[in-house]
Amino acid sequence: MKNPELQRTSELDAFAGPSTRYCPAGVYEWVEKDGQPVFVINAQNCVHCKTCDIKDPNQNINWVPPQGGEGPVYPNM
Ligand code: SF4
Repeated sequence: MKNPELQRTSELDAFAGPSTRYCPAGVYEWVEKDGQPVFVINAQNCVHCKTCDIKDPNQNINWVPPQGGEGPVYPNM
């Protein structure tokens, strides 16, 4: 993510956190910590569908392929 503050003011304040709904794997969560919303990214759940790269209202989420940029290695495919 490029700018955490933009993520809060736009994604959460303006659009009520669509990332928590469009991500099919539940990677993104808004949790409250000390009265402040905190954006949590559960990257280990990501199924690499790339929706967040397209859907984020500000293009603030920059999805990158896993494993050093060359994409996932699926040994049994
Ligand atoms: S690519 Fe983005 S939208 Fe798709 S599962 Fe991963 S975090 Fe969620």
